[in-house]
Amino acid sequence: MTNNKYKLLVVEDEENIRTLLSALLEANGYQVLAAGTGAMGKLLITSHRPDLVLLDLGLPDMDGLELLRTLRAEETLTPVIVLSARTDEREKVTALDLGANDYVTKPFGSAELLARVRTALRNTRHSAQEGRLPGGKFHLDDMVIDYDARRVSIRGQEVRLTQTEYNIVAFLSEHCGKVMTYSAIIRGVWGYPDAGSVKRLQVNMANIRKKLGARPGEESYIVNELGVGYRMREPSHEEK
Ligand code: CA
Repeated sequence: MTNNKYKLLVVEDEENIRTLLSALLEANGYQVLAAGTGAMGKLLITSHRPDLVLLDLGLPDMDGLELLRTLRAEETLTPVIVLSARTDEREKVTALDLGANDYVTKPFGSAELLARVRTALRNTRHSAQEGRLPGGKFHLDDMVIDYDARRVSIRGQEVRLTQTEYNIVAFLSEHCGKVMTYSAIIRGVWGYPDAGSVKRLQVNMANIRKKLGARPGEESYIVNELGVGYRMREPSHEEK
């Protein structure tokens, strides 16, 4: 069974966190490689081709963003989840726009981290092999998106969205579980950014959230990641 395991690389200089992460991931069936410096991380990426990299941004020998930049410059599609101790939103946005798949802010819970790892591995498999299937439908709680009919309904009732609002909802659903930055959504929906893009996106999002309805005591379909972007929640396995 060993060779069926996903190989994950943890690049983190704090020994406590590195040990904890490795133990957590190993206990959940992953094979784990660990590096305490950016240089060692680079070496292990080249020599071992991990399936996913968990990358700390504050490394002793280089900025984690620099390692990410090198990785993407070599057109490596290895998913990267950034471990950020910093509350700096701009840095998270930079990491995502440089091609990081996701980020978690330290301290993070193990359930959250494992969920992000599963999502990143799954999204990579999808984009590599399947893409969006024609005739597909997306189910999240009591919301259904019918991609062919370009319709969104909740408990069987159609939600009246404008074309743009629908495009945003569909785009987020195609990347569900993953935070999409403002600029990624703008590129995905309008194709190009201009001076009013972010404002236009926010106005559309406010309308979308109103139309999808706030449900007291329940999680929203779309999570607002303040200062970074938006994330559509991922359906649980039974819904897929
Ligand atoms: Ca660090």
